[in-house]
Amino acid sequence: MKKDDFGFDTLLAHCGRLPANHSGTVNTPVYRASTILFPNLAALEAKESARLRYGRRGTPTTHALEDAICALEGSDRALATPSGVSAISVVLMSYAEPGAHFLMTDSVYGPARKFCESTLKKFGIETTYYDPTIGVDIESLIRPNTRLVWMESPGSQTFEVQDVTAIAEVARRRGIVSAIDNTWSGGYFCQPISQGVDISVQAGTKYISGHSDLMLGTIACREAEYERLRETYLRFGLCIGSDDAFLALRGLRTIGVRMVQHHANGLEIANWLSQQEEVLRVMHPALPDDPGHDLWRRHFTGASGLFGFVMRAVDRAALARMFDSFTLFGMGSSWGGFESLMVPSNPSVYRTATTWAPGGQTVRIHVGLENPGDLIREIRDGFNRLK
Ligand SMILES: *Cc1c(COP(=O)(O)O)cnc(C)c1O
Repeated sequence: MKKDDFGFDTLLAHCGRLPANHSGTVNTPVYRASTILFPNLAALEAKESARLRYGRRGTPTTHALEDAICALEGSDRALATPSGVSAISVVLMSYAEPGAHFLMTDSVYGPARKFCESTLKKFGIETTYYDPTIGVDIESLIRPNTRLVWMESPGSQTFEVQDVTAIAEVARRRGIVSAIDNTWSGGYFCQPISQGVDISVQAGTKYISGHSDLMLGTIACREAEYERLRETYLRFGLCIGSDDAFLALRGLRTIGVRMVQHHANGLEIANWLSQQEEVLRVMHPALPDDPGHDLWRRHFTGASGLFGFVMRAVDRAALARMFDSFTLFGMGSSWGGFESLMVPSNPSVYRTATTWAPGGQTVRIHVGLENPGDLIREIRDGFNRLK
């Protein structure tokens, strides 16, 4: 399908599948494969250029997912990895070389920072963390050996929106590759590659899956970066199972309707929270008084269900009273599923370029697809238990 000829939702319903190639089945079937047989010697000898050659190199199911990711992200190419973290590590490793320097937002997802500080540091790669709101001033941090600028917008703990177009433009002008963690938008509300970024990574575990039952990472990129990324991917022997690719494709078919509902539900709850006396601040870029609101309007077509708020400091026992009796809000890692989650968080501990001192307890909330009124009642009861 030519992407310019169709609307986004049409594209997402039809991308990455060719029923005529699979006995007419609407969905690309699960191909479980390691060995793939070639019919004759000539075909065997030509396998270097064949898309299908060995299970680790992909199956029709995983290829279908990669094609669909290209449609979602508006990218030339895509790779599917076993988790969001592996997608991040592949990108970082691809631009690592002795003496290289990376720039990374201070709001970055924790394990990405750990990869720089543990793995890459050992090999002589230095990372500078920058204020997520730095914008064009990123230029002042660029060194002759800077190879990569990493963004995450909004940050998935503190929700600062970055000036992605400005940072990508500076990087491009200085010949530096730019990459972003696009998990928050699901790719549905933001296509960073069309905004000048070279590589867009997602934890497909979150909104692409949408059902809290799958681990997946996605790397979408421009043609110019593909071979380098693919080389790292192949050297690490990464691949995903076709069952997981099938689940990801199934989730992707409904990402549009889910994201629209996450947006509406999340905003309703963010608005309600901002009026509660227990709440000092709500970090949700679609709220007009959020510091990132103007940038969010420029770069995103909607907001996902993940945001944060700061509540008045309470002691540990009161916090446990609030959280332990929730029945709709689950407590656990991850987000992006159909169900709501809420966890206390402490972003202060890992910041190095900026400080996070909000004057109260930071909480991260993922608003799922439940009726918002039920969720509001549950939070109100939780606040009442603080007393
Ligand atoms: C969850 C998450 C990841 C990592 O994804 P996994 O699939 O859990 O490895 C990366 N980035 C962000 C912003 C995330 O929230």
